Formats: sequence, structure tokens, C-alpha cells
Amino acid sequence: MNVHDRYDLTTVINARGTFTPLGVSRSSDGVCSAIAEALADFFIVDELQALADRSIANFAGAEAATVTHCVASAITISVAATMAGTSNQRIAALPDTAGLANSVVIPAGHCVNYGQSILQAIRLSGAAAIVAGNPESCELADIERQIEENHCCCLLLVSSKLVESAPIDFSAAVEVAHKHGIPAIIDGAAQDFRIDELIQTNADLVLVSAQKYLGAPTAGLVIGRRGLVDAVSAQDKGIGRGMKATKESIVGVLAAIEERQSLDISMWRETQHRKVVDFMSRANAIDGIGARSEPDPTGLPFSRVYLQLERDHAGYDLTTLVGKLKSGQPSIWVVDQNITRDEIGLELVQVSDGEISVILERLAELLGADKDAVD
Ligand SMILES: *Cc1c(COP(=O)(O)O)cnc(C)c1O
Repeated sequence: MNVHDRYDLTTVINARGTFTPLGVSRSSDGVCSAIAEALADFFIVDELQALADRSIANFAGAEAATVTHCVASAITISVAATMAGTSNQRIAALPDTAGLANSVVIPAGHCVNYGQSILQAIRLSGAAAIVAGNPESCELADIERQIEENHCCCLLLVSSKLVESAPIDFSAAVEVAHKHGIPAIIDGAAQDFRIDELIQTNADLVLVSAQKYLGAPTAGLVIGRRGLVDAVSAQDKGIGRGMKATKESIVGVLAAIEERQSLDISMWRETQHRKVVDFMSRANAIDGIGARSEPDPTGLPFSRVYLQLERDHAGYDLTTLVGKLKSGQPSIWVVDQNITRDEIGLELVQVSDGEISVILERLAELLGADKDAVD
């Protein structure tokens, strides 16, 4: 009996993507057994952590790396590290920042809410967030204007779903921060396929969630310059204590990184492409549905499917459809942030072939189409 049946929990089909309220991702059998093994035993945690740190740095092609509880906590701890360095006294004093440069510059369009406001993740360290530009656009000059003497770092963000503003030239923004003598941190939570590109911007730290496309347990990878990564690790004895990586998450990260290193990316990309093309042709065969695909706007190596309703379905609009998909059994979740553009999205990366058939059958059923069209 699986855990859903044992506790009478809702069975979910997740076509929404790496979404925290749904449990983010599926781990492979290899990652799951590594975690189970770790939970049943002891380690010299510093030794385990040092091994993972080297493995992540090697994987990312960076000088250094470490693991925190998640990216939300990695933001707080990284900002803390830019204020306190490795000074025990300063680490112990936080979130009291008296006498420290404590302002973080962040472009207005990057002030997102991923379930928590990123501004709060900054403030938790004791720092203050200084917003540059406006939500629609932020020029390099807007960032530069905000960098004054009491600044500790500049925080930038990559997000396909959350950022609505015009894209920023990361390398140029990093250069502006460096010109003023402060480090630049990039929140690239979902960008585990693009870590090398983000490192190449010359950012001092790149933050990546291990539980998104990497399929590790929840953990935040902090990757970058040696001195600053050491300052992040040093926070374990300060405000980072409540945000620490656990032994099972560190072992899970190790296993997930080894799997990624042996992954044939072009074959993976081809599998994702075939899934999308197949889904579109089967969805287009359902009367009244139009399907198109669009590559991930941040450059992740896959596309999403977008569905439109092509005629009136007895009073059905997309909001009703999304609600019905969620309230059915199994509960089907889609990307519903674009309903204002008259379409819903589906991210199929984590959806199995069997689940894809269930989704298509449910769509046909809800829209009153002939089920035969789906098979
Ligand atoms: C998912 C996400 C986060 C939060 O990451 P966690 O590891 O869940 O804390 C932060 N920023 C962005 C852009 C995200 O996509």
C-alpha cells in the first residue's frame, strides 16, 4: 500500500512544474535509496559536507560550493555572509547589523514572491533591501545609482515564471557591483541545467535548488567564490543553524549530481521534445482544444505545452477547467499563471506517459469530447 492510500491523501498529477506546494519533484530510485541509507546511519558531518562541497564545485566548474537547507535560506545566509564574513563576533551578532554595511540592492522586477517575499529572505539576515528601478524595467544606471557606501551586495534573480520585467544583462550588472566593490549574488533556483552559464557571469555566488530539476531532496546549492562560500559555511554557527543541510539531503544531493553528470543531455532533451510533440497532437485531436508549445524562456532545455479553448464549452472558461482538473481524482495541476493570456500551460518533464494519458482523457471528458479522439 502506498503512502497516499495508507493515509487517504490526494493523488496528484503534477503538470505544473517544480512547485513547492506539490512536493517539487520526483527523486530517482537511486537518489531515494541513497537517502534511506543515509538516514539509517551516522557520519562525520563535516567530512560528508566537505565531500559534497567538492562534488558540487566540480560539477559546476566553480571554485567552491556548499549546501544549505534550501534556496530561500541560502538567500538569507548568503546576504549574512556578505555582511559578516568569517568573523565569529559578527556572525554571533546577526541579525544585529550595527556597524556593518547592510544594504542589499535588488532590481524592482526581481522582488518576487516564491511563497515568501524575497525581500523578507534578505531582511531575515538583518540587512535592508534597497530596490532599484521600477517593476517594468531596471537599467544598469538604476542599480548603480542605488549602490552607496553601506552596501553589502547586489542580488539578482533568474525566473521564468516569476519575473515579468525586461531581462537584465547579468554579466553587466555583476560588473557594476564589482566596480563598486560589492559582491553579486544570483538566485537561479530552477537553473540547475544552466549553472555554468550563471557562473560565467562572474557572479560571486549562484544559488540553485537541489530539489527542482536535479531531483534531490530539498537543499540549496551555494556555488561560487571560495572566500564568500567559506563565509556562507561559517553561518552554520550563527543564523544558519536553523537553515542547515541534513545528512540525508547532503547524501541525496551527491547521488543526484552523480546521476546528472552521467545524463546524456541531448537524449534527455529529445525525450522531452517527443513528449511535448505527442501531447500536442493528441490534445489537438480533442474537439475544441488548441495546443501549441513554447521553449522555456530562461533557456532550460525543454518546452511547455499551452492549451486554448477554441469555442464556448457550455459556459466553461479556463478558470473553471483548472478547478475541475484539480478537484478530480487524481488531482491534476497545470501552469495556470497565464490564464490572463487565455491559455493554460503544462510542464511535462515530471509527468509519466501513463499520467499524460490520464490528463488527455480528463480534458476530453470535461470538454464533452469523444474519448476515442484521445486514444
Ligand atoms: C523555487 C525558488 C526559490 C525558493 O527555493 P527553495 O529551494 O524552495 O527555497 C527561490 N527563488 C526562485 C526564483 C525560485 O524559483
